Amino acid sequence: MEARTTIQAALASVRERIAGAAHRSGRLPEDITVVAVTKTHPEAVVRDAFAAGLRHFGENRVQEAAPKIATLADLRPRGAAFHLVGHLQSNKAGKAVEVFDTVQSVDSVELAYRLARLAESAGRVLPIMVEVDLAGEATKSGLPPADLFVALDAIRGLGSLRVEGLMVLPPYFEDADAARPFFVRLRELGDGALARGLLQGSALSMGMSHDFEVAIEEGATHVRIGTALFGARR
Ligand SMILES: *Cc1c(COP(=O)(O)O)cnc(C)c1O
Repeated sequence: MEARTTIQAALASVRERIAGAAHRSGRLPEDITVVAVTKTHPEAVVRDAFAAGLRHFGENRVQEAAPKIATLADLRPRGAAFHLVGHLQSNKAGKAVEVFDTVQSVDSVELAYRLARLAESAGRVLPIMVEVDLAGEATKSGLPPADLFVALDAIRGLGSLRVEGLMVLPPYFEDADAARPFFVRLRELGDGALARGLLQGSALSMGMSHDFEVAIEEGATHVRIGTALFGARR
């Protein structure tokens, strides 16, 4: 099969599963945004994904993404948006503000301040999400839940940032259902933050190829999907 046809078929299947999970939880499929994670895949794959109807693309490394997104600039006026979903080192924050539409992986107040300064100099408002580390895994980034509200309060009011919501990358479980408590916890934190006026949006970015249906059942608004659309990464 041609690459484009393969992506179309994979997307149709993903959308069907999204619709099923949305239906089970009394939600609307159109309220769930697919962020196609194109890390390690070449520009042509992103173009095929765009042709298949995808508009949101996720990358996890600034260095890899910057030249790729530069060559894809023509897709932006046609509706494409690029999300950073991987850990951002502070020395790459400037480049990230230049090339990404949204930074989903803000994991410290310091990084938020830096992004705010850079966005302000660039004369733009940068939509961000704050990543939460719910498992306390040393290898993963994210704010500990106990620090979240204080951090959001410190970030609140930075005019050049728009805090759209929260993001999580739970531990990998063979059985996707085992990730459910993490998704529930992120939703509870999001509800708590919204009730305290600490968020400007109600986005919950949670769920990947192997667990996005569970994440949607628990309230995901953004699912970050690579493998289920593009096959295994080399
Ligand atoms: C790679 C990646 C994904 C996508 O993972 P798949 O299992 O291929 O769907 C989602 N989120 C983040 C942060 C990633 O790095």
